[in-house]
Amino acid sequence: MTSELVPPPDMDADAVAWWDATRERRLLVQRCGSCGDHQHYPRPFCVACGARDLALVAASGRGTVYSFTVVHRAPSAEFAPPYTIALVRLEEGPLMLTRIVDGPVPLECDRPVELRWQGLEDGRHLPVFALADAGSR
Ligand code: ZN
Repeated sequence: MTSELVPPPDMDADAVAWWDATRERRLLVQRCGSCGDHQHYPRPFCVACGARDLALVAASGRGTVYSFTVVHRAPSAEFAPPYTIALVRLEEGPLMLTRIVDGPVPLECDRPVELRWQGLEDGRHLPVFALADAGSR
């Protein structure tokens, strides 16, 4: 786990329960009760079929790097460059915008990654990812 604190992101009404779970380091995704698709971030309707029958379910915390970029000029002083921003394809299907920690620069697409947590100032945690251990693939 990364111990440095970063400023907490904004939170809208659909995301309150999702963020609350991060206090216990639980990563959730929405699952549609109508079509079975998973989605992230939390929304009031299913982007695949439009149904409003959505539930938050636990994600495995495993995924692969879909795309990434290395940030060399941070947007504010709280972020120390260089760091890697990535779209991770979660095992359940959705893409998650996140950071890759403890990884090589440059990274490679399709690399297996696994969940880590970064503490926020208010007790929530930010899901970040690190390269998966070679033995766990
Ligand atoms: Zn659906």
